[in-house]
Amino acid sequence: MIKETIVGARSLLTGMKVTFLNAFKKPVTSQYPRERIEMSEAYRNVIVLVEKDDVGSHDCIDCGMCERVCPSFCIKVEGERPEGMKRKRATRFEVDFALCSECGLCLDVCPTDTLGYSREFDQAGYGRNDFLYDLLVPYREREETVRTTLRAAEAEAAAAKKAAAAAKAAAKKAADETGEGDDS
Ligand code: SF4
Ligand code: SF4
Repeated sequence: MIKETIVGARSLLTGMKVTFLNAFKKPVTSQYPRERIEMSEAYRNVIVLVEKDDVGSHDCIDCGMCERVCPSFCIKVEGERPEGMKRKRATRFEVDFALCSECGLCLDVCPTDTLGYSREFDQAGYGRNDFLYDLLVPYREREETVRTTLRAAEAEAAAAKKAAAAAKAAAKKAADETGEGDDS
């Protein structure tokens, strides 16, 4: 009886000592869901389409490289070439996150660097379909405005290129006429 009391008291004091020592340390846990921690840059979760400053939206041009390289076959991309534009725009971008292994190959091959990782960490669902993500959702509403801006930028760039070519041709013609371009 005395031995058991001593063992119990010792155990109690050990527990109190651990509690006391940790009471003054910085907490390493958070009060989820009231507190939500910010994940580090190295954190990997479902892929997302990243907004590009120069486009004002994602910059998926439907090249299909991410879809082809994905070892889990979990990306589906479709796109179209909007009227009056050279650049294509994605019209469908779906990811089956239940299959994604977060290998990062799709990010590596993307020519426009418009793929990144989400900072989310608490996805939950009741079925497989809850993990099918439509990555264009955040961008759909502004797509027409973005296309208008991109169309105007393309037209401006084409006009500038045409003007530069015309100026170059005129300079060459002037040089030919004065003989400056003749080495003989
Ligand atoms: S991270 Fe890997 S598995 Fe996931 S979608 Fe990209 S290529 Fe596929
Ligand atoms: S690789 Fe990049 S640009 Fe090409 S389809 Fe995928 S996300 Fe779009």
